Amino acid sequence: MNLIILFKDDFIDAKTVRLRGRRLMHVTTVQRASVGDSLRVGLLNGDIGTGVVTHLDEEYLEMDVKLGTRPPAALPLTLVLALPRPKVLRRILLSAGSMGVKKIFLINAYRVEKSYWQSPLLDPAAMNTQLLLGLEQARDTMLPEVLLRPLFKPFVEDELPAIIEGTLPLVAHPVASEPCPRQVREPVVLALGPEGGFIPFEIEKFLSLGFTSVHLGERILRVETAVPFIISRLL
Ligand code: SAH
Repeated sequence: MNLIILFKDDFIDAKTVRLRGRRLMHVTTVQRASVGDSLRVGLLNGDIGTGVVTHLDEEYLEMDVKLGTRPPAALPLTLVLALPRPKVLRRILLSAGSMGVKKIFLINAYRVEKSYWQSPLLDPAAMNTQLLLGLEQARDTMLPEVLLRPLFKPFVEDELPAIIEGTLPLVAHPVASEPCPRQVREPVVLALGPEGGFIPFEIEKFLSLGFTSVHLGERILRVETAVPFIISRLL
């Protein structure tokens, strides 16, 4: 936790927050802070700044908070991800969130295991836990938006055309003939397939909207590796 995310409810007056639970634990056991120390804090979806510890015991922590710096800029990239298995999704939410991705569509695809849609991780509160960990890691405050789209065709036909307007739309596909571009200047919409890959019908759908299908070299990567690999290459 490189920044402590604060919620409006944490404030007991205009500039004082009181924290308990996980954040208190982290401050005492990992940061090993004491009264008088200054910690980096940020208001969820708001500014970042510092909090000076004014009270600390086993029960709660109080800080005098000064905010006023904007969080880091968002990454100009929207992810369209075939719903991965829950433990992979958990890691992707945290890591994509920490890299500054602010919009993630989780979509269905032919080779997505149906049971993944029943995962308790898709509960907004469970996803937020991972997203907040990513924000705290990256010293960001802007919570990414995760949208579930359990029907492939209506999403691609009715929603995706507007989403890709003004962007470079790419679908990562190991057998594509074009290599993934580097250092692009425009915002990107990036689609990634499930463990078994997209089927030809799905690739055709993306291509028909104007997506370019791109490969990352001959190594097939896991989605959780492909995401940071492509992001660092593109942006
Ligand atoms: N067996 C599948 C591999 C899927 S890997 C297949 O052959 O299609 C899961 C997803 O990660 C892919 O759908 C793709 O979006 C992305 N990916 C992994 N390695 C890639 C590579 N070398 N080139 C392009 N995309 C890749």
